[in-house]
Formats: sequence, structure tokens, C-alpha cells
Amino acid sequence: MRQINSIVFVIVISALLVCAFISYRSKKDIGFPLALLLIGLLPPVVGNLIIITSTVRDVSLIGSYIYYLGMDLAMYGLLRFTLAYCNIRRPFRILLNTAYLLLIVDAVSLSLNPFFGHAFATQEIIVEGYPYFKLVPYLGQSFHRIVDYSIYFACLIIFLVKTVTSPRIYSEKYSVILLTMVFTGLWQTFYIFSGTPIDTSMIGFGIFGLAVFYFSLYYRPVRLLENMLAKIASGMTESLFFFDANSHCIWANEQGIEMTGIVNGDFSIAEQVLIDTFPDVDFLQKDINCRRSVGYGKNIRHYIIEKHIITDNKGRKAGSFLIIRDNTAEQKAVQEEIYNAIHDKLTDLYVREYLYEKIRTVLEQNTSRDYYIVYVDVKEFKLINDVYGKAFGDEVIKAIADWLRSRLGRGSIYGRIGGDTFGALVPVGIFDERGFVEGLSKFSVAKGDLNVEINLHAGIYKVSKSDVDVSVMFDRAHLALNTGKDDYNKRLVYYDDAMRNDVLWEQKITSEFSDAIKNGQIVPYLQPIVDRNGVVVGAEALVRWHHPEYGLLSPAKFVPIFENNGLICELDRHMWRCACEILNKWEKEYRNLFISVNISPRDFYFMDVASEIENIAKEYDVDPERMRVEITETMMMSDVENRMNVLRELKDGGFIVEMDDFGSGYSSLNLLKDMPVDVLKIDMAFLKDSRDEDKAQTILHNIITLSEDLKIVSLTEGVETKEQFSMLSNMGCRLFQGYNFSRPIPIEAFEKTFLEDSSELLS
Ligand code: C2E
Ligand code: CA
Ligand code: CA
Repeated sequence: MRQINSIVFVIVISALLVCAFISYRSKKDIGFPLALLLIGLLPPVVGNLIIITSTVRDVSLIGSYIYYLGMDLAMYGLLRFTLAYCNIRRPFRILLNTAYLLLIVDAVSLSLNPFFGHAFATQEIIVEGYPYFKLVPYLGQSFHRIVDYSIYFACLIIFLVKTVTSPRIYSEKYSVILLTMVFTGLWQTFYIFSGTPIDTSMIGFGIFGLAVFYFSLYYRPVRLLENMLAKIASGMTESLFFFDANSHCIWANEQGIEMTGIVNGDFSIAEQVLIDTFPDVDFLQKDINCRRSVGYGKNIRHYIIEKHIITDNKGRKAGSFLIIRDNTAEQKAVQEEIYNAIHDKLTDLYVREYLYEKIRTVLEQNTSRDYYIVYVDVKEFKLINDVYGKAFGDEVIKAIADWLRSRLGRGSIYGRIGGDTFGALVPVGIFDERGFVEGLSKFSVAKGDLNVEINLHAGIYKVSKSDVDVSVMFDRAHLALNTGKDDYNKRLVYYDDAMRNDVLWEQKITSEFSDAIKNGQIVPYLQPIVDRNGVVVGAEALVRWHHPEYGLLSPAKFVPIFENNGLICELDRHMWRCACEILNKWEKEYRNLFISVNISPRDFYFMDVASEIENIAKEYDVDPERMRVEITETMMMSDVENRMNVLRELKDGGFIVEMDDFGSGYSSLNLLKDMPVDVLKIDMAFLKDSRDEDKAQTILHNIITLSEDLKIVSLTEGVETKEQFSMLSNMGCRLFQGYNFSRPIPIEAFEKTFLEDSSELLS
């Protein structure tokens, strides 16, 4: 019996040594405390071995000391291990220190036993024919037991509390150690109270150490692991399938079960279902990573399929798992995003960038086909928004989009370029110009009882080979449309190169204008105005541009452009200054001569014409009567009240107001009677086109008579012949201007020709 016990002890001791070493080398946090516990357990076990094998009292006594002192060390190890294992980082310091202190006191007390004999003694008994030295406990031994049991129970309680309070899946981690401890405790207690002659209780301690070693380093609580894996797997949005080495399905998560219709845990059907669902995926392949779509139309579903092989530590295939992710929602979201990025929200038409891109591709691929680029725009869309509200404006835009869809249809590409502008690429062959123009001109949108007419117009650019970029094509179509803008009857305007040249010209002279004024390139020419006797009484200042590249530019080349972009104000102001400068120079010798200056109708939009002219006249100290201002009827086309006030202001300031180009425009005689003008400039040009000359002459005669009746001086311009001069004189006209007397000429020439030579005549 003793031999058997001894062998068991030796085995346990060796195992403890090995485990302590492994724990010490372990990289886990628990490694060191565990090693401490195992080392702590060694002395009592060794002590116990010595006790049961020794037949000599002194040797047995040494064993007993190792046993008891070792027990303190073991308890110290147990305490450290418990705190570490249960993750108690901040223990009750005082309690802990008291425990350590008690262990030290106990160890000291035991060490003093040889001198005082207060703890224990040995008593020889004969067991199986051999002497055995049984321990006889005294008071000091009771203290030892109290200390060790207290620590043991403290640890037990800690594990118990942890077992109870931890989440269920974790409690197993603590309960296994708790049970081991309870078992060991019972074993030990059994020995103490059983009175068994030979105490081998430390085998239980050793086994406890080994069990703890296994549980804390190697044992994975199965339930914890299973629970965790199941949680992760069922929390996955993907379907997950596990296959064994023979590629048979052995497990699937909830999603996988649902996807393949597995019932009653019969995973084997999964393989066939997967093959049927994804017929073109080879599931036996080693690694799979592919996307597949199943179904079509609205029921289409998109999947990402991934297969991974699992190998054992020798690299042999142990099994595999398959992850199938249904990414239909994401795919749809992506497609929706793409759709939204290239489609206009309001109309569902392509947005500009995409329209251009698409047209570019079509043009690249169909180089032999002829195409039109069509640019459609709403006239005065802002007005529609202002008058009928933004919501109605949106309706209009939508209606145009619908119309384009139905009008252009297949073969064309169209989109919304911006606010109220649309663009399209239409093959020349299918473009129905008449239908299109009809649609443009009849376009209307209903609002309640109202039927609001919408003015649509379009510019067209014909795409030619080796052409410019799409954006430029649209610019040109836009340009064509702008050229036709003032003409309400012209719904459709085709682009031609002259338009482009016009624009280039416009840009060039606009950019050069301000320098031209500074450099004195823009100057007045003077055209004399004569009385019935042919005597020069004044002149009209007409602008000329001495352009370094193009020579002498007549106003027709730039005045309309500046009227469009507002630069006309600068130009006129400059001309008025020049006129005042001349008048100032003439002040002494020719103070009875006047100069007429032109005022563009556009000037009234941009400045306070009356005060501007007054100030300039004042600046040059010019008598306002010598400065005549020419206005046209068009200035009276809008804002009549205000314009009338400006005229009155000018008259009150002493200026003589002339109505220019009478006869060329609307020639409202009615307006004439209310307008405070002093001179009526009748344009001979309007006689030129007339077929019935007699009739025209009658009209002319009547206008002259009428103006004289209204006390308005009549002046005819465009007088080119002596005959005209005498005829007009006979009709009663008082002043004359025209090539018959002189073309507009530079100031020096004017002074030389009409002033110096004839100065005597005039003075
Ligand atoms: P307008 O004010 O009616 O000026 C008269 C135009 O008739 C001048 O053309 C003049 O050269 C031309 N003319 C004079 N006599 C005859 C003639 O016997 N036969 C013909 N066929 N034409 C004659 P021009 O100088 O080319 O000016 C054209 C227009 O440019 C002017 O018409 C005026 O509306 C505008 N303009 C000229 N200078 C200025 C200016 O400084 N400011 C503004 N706002 N407009 C100006
Ligand atoms: Ca004029
Ligand atoms: Ca005129």
C-alpha cells in the first residue's frame, strides 16, 4: 500500500513540476499566478510523501515541517491565483495583507515548534508491520488550520460569488474551479476527521493543482464557446454553411437554414439547394469569391459567395465554410445612387454632365451619321415663376420634359441642361422640323382655369465631322437661339459660323473698349447741319473708332453691341464730354454754333441722363442751348412717365431736345404732341423704299407742316441731293443734314472746311 501511494505521489509531484514549468512559460496572464500555485502545492505533497515513506522519526518530522510550512506557501499561491483568475484587480487591501500576515505568523509559529512543541508532535504507530509516525496536533496546529482554512474558504467564496454573479455563459469558467476546490476540501476534511492511520490527503492537493492547471490554461468552456459562436453566426446577416472534409454540409446558421429550407437539422439537403440556386458556381472549387444575381426584373437578388478551406495543422483539408451574402439592398442603393446622380430629380431627364457624356459616346461611335444638337429654352421663365409661383414653374419644366420625351422619342438623347434649358442630340434623318416648331409655338400649360402660354424657342447646331466638344456644340446652339431671341416669331434658329464670328467680334471689341477710350481711338466726327441758305449752323457728333487693326470703324460695328452690354453709357458720356470740349473751344469765335449729341435709349436704364449731361456742360462751362440732345422714340416705349420727366428736366436745364429718326420707327404723331421736343429730325431714309413716291412726299410734307404747327423745328437728315434740298426747303423744312452738304468728318477737317474759310461769312 505504501509503495502504491509512493508511486502515485511521485507521479503527482513530477506532473506538478512539469505543469508549473509550462505555466511559467505560458504567455497568458494567468501563467505566473498559476505557476506560483503549483509550486506552492509542491512542498506539502513532497512533505506528505516523506511522511508516508519514512520509518525514522526524525525524517518523518522533517517531512511534517515541509508539509505544514509548504501548506502556507500553497495557500499564498491559491490566494494569488484566485485573485488573478477571478480578475480581482483591487482586492480589499487590509484583508489581503491580514491574510499574508497570518500566513507569515503561522509559518514562524510552525518553525518554532522544535523549541516549544506547541504545534504538533509525532507518535509512532505500526501500520502493515512498519512504523508510521502519525502527527499529534496541539494548539499551534489549530491556529495553522484556522489560517489555512480561512484562506481556502475565502477563495472558495470568491469563486462561488463569481459563479453566481457572472453571465451564464461565463459562469462555467468559475464553476469548474469551484467544484475542484470543493472536492479537494472534502477530501482533505475527510482525512482530518476520518482518523485514517496514514494521511495521503496531499494527493488530492496535487490533483487539484493539475486540474486547475488544465482548466485555466487549456479548457475552453464548451458552452461559452458554443453560445458565442452561435450568437455570432446567427447575428450575421450572411448565410453560413460548414462542410466536412468530404464537402457535406454539417451545419448552417439561421440565415443559411432559411435560405436553403433546411428542416429538422437535416443539413445534407443544403448542398443540392445551393447547386440548384447557383447552377454556374462550382462549389467544389478550392476557393470561391464571386457575385451572382438570381431572378430578374423586380425580383432580382444579388449575392456575394465566398468559400474558405479550413486545414488542420498539417495542412490537410479539414473542411470548409461558405458565406453567402445577399447584397440586393446595397446593390439597389448603389444603382439608385447612380440613377440619382445622372438623372434630374424634377424631370427624370439626364443631368447636363451625363447628357454631354452620353452624346460624346454616341458621336464617337456613329461618326458616319448626321446629328443635330438642339438647345431648348423658355423665354422669360423668371416671369412665369414670379407671376404663377415656383410650383407652377416646376410644372412647366416637367411639361416640357414630357413633351421632349414624346416629341424626340427613340434614337435621340435628351436631358435638362439647367434651370429652364434642355438639350438633345437628334439624328438629322428623324428630326421633324415642322412638328417641332409647331410644338414649340403652341406650348401651353394649364393652371386651374387658366391656360398659360409658354414661349419656347430652340437653337440648333448641326454636328459636323472632326468637330468641337459637345459643350461647345451646345454653346453654339445656344448662341443661335440668342440671336433669334428678339424675334418672337422665330422659334427655331440654326447656327451658322457668322454667328460665332459675331460673338468673337463682340468679345474682342468689348474687351478693347476701355483702352480705346483712354488711347483716344474713340472720337467724334462732325456732320454739319445747315439752314435753308446752306449756312452751317451746327453739327451732329457721330462716334468713330480708329481701330489699330481694322481702321475706321463706323458705329454700326459696335454701338448695338455696347447697347446690349451696357457699355453704351461710357461711350455716350465720353462723346458728350468731347462735344462740350469742342463747344468750349468754339466759345469765343463760333459761339452761335451748336452740337447735337446722341442719347441711346439704353442710357436711361443705367444713369440719370439729365443730371449727367448738365454736370458735363457745367464742367466745360458750356451754354446748354448750344448743346442739343437727340433722343429716339424708342426711349418712350417704356416707363413713359419717368422718361417724360427727364426730357422736361433737360428742357428746364436749357438744352434743346431733338427727336431723332422720326419716320423710321413707329412715328407716333400722337406722342409728339405730348412730348417736350424742340426739333423733329426726319429721316429721309424712309422715303427711299417707298414705291409710291408721290404719296411719300405727301406724308413728308404733312409731317413738316404738322411739326411747324406744333412749334417744333423740322430738320431733315439724309439729304443727299440738291433736288431733295430744294424740295424740302419748299415744303417748309428749316434745317438740313446729309451727304449733300458733307459726310461726318474729323473735327479739324470740319473746322477747316466750315469754320475758318467761312468764318467771315458766319460772323
Ligand atoms: P443717327 O443718329 O441717325 O445718325 C445719322 C446717321 O446717318 C450717321 O451714321 C450718318 O453718317 C448717316 N448719314 C448722314 N447723312 C447721310 C446721308 O445723306 N445719307 C445716308 N445714307 N446716311 C447719312 P453713322 O455715323 O454711321 O451713325 C449711325 C448711327 O449710330 C447713328 O444714327 C446713331 O444712332 C448711332 N450713333 C452714332 N454716334 C453715336 C453716339 O455717339 N452715341 C450713340 N448712342 N449712338 C451713336
Ligand atoms: Ca442722331
Ligand atoms: Ca438720325
